[in-house]
Amino acid sequence: MSIAQNLQVILERIEKAAQSCGRDPKSVRLVAVSKTKPISAVEEAFKAGQVLFGENYVQELTEKVPALGQGPEWHFIGHLQSNKAKPAALHSHVVQTVDRFKLAKALNRHAEEAGKTLGILLQVNVGEEIQKSGCSEDEARELALKVAELPNLKLKGLMTMPPFFDQPEKVRPIFAKLYELAQNLAKGLPKGAMDELSMGMSGDFEAAIKEGATLVRVGTAIFGAREYHQ
Ligand SMILES: *Cc1c(COP(=O)(O)O)cnc(C)c1O
Repeated sequence: MSIAQNLQVILERIEKAAQSCGRDPKSVRLVAVSKTKPISAVEEAFKAGQVLFGENYVQELTEKVPALGQGPEWHFIGHLQSNKAKPAALHSHVVQTVDRFKLAKALNRHAEEAGKTLGILLQVNVGEEIQKSGCSEDEARELALKVAELPNLKLKGLMTMPPFFDQPEKVRPIFAKLYELAQNLAKGLPKGAMDELSMGMSGDFEAAIKEGATLVRVGTAIFGAREYHQ
């Protein structure tokens, strides 16, 4: 199937999942994850009506954003080192993977230099896996309070990347935990600071929607399997 057809199928599945739990389908946005895929694939998706894209690597972001021009909205969803904060801040509308204050400060500084406000999600390691990035649930409150004070960042919510489960139903408790955490954090934060929940990928986005996802990050199911060349 073509990228356009895949998009159609995913959008229909999003709509069904939202309706099945009484949510407005418009409250869930699809982030098309285009990492490792060529500019032509992103263009094809954009022509088919997809506007929101996710990239994991600063190098790819830096190439694709200028190539696509005005129109698409870009979310950075990969692990980000502070020394790459500048291109990430320049080329993204939202950075979903802020997990430490040092990185937030660097992004704020570069956003200020660029005269923009950068959207931010805090990445939380709900599964508590040692090897994954993301702050702990305990660290999230302090980080959220500090990030909310940075003038060129706009805190919008939380993101998580759960451990891999072969059955999507098994990951639901993790999605539920992120939802609960956002509800708790929202109490002490400015309005809108916990509105977005980025969770769910190709294999489990329907489960994530049932647990409150507002952004689902889908790559393979739109663009096909990824090939990594070293
Ligand atoms: C690659 C990636 C995705 C998309 O994964 P698929 O299984 O291909 O849908 C989503 N989120 C993050 C953070 C990713 O790195």
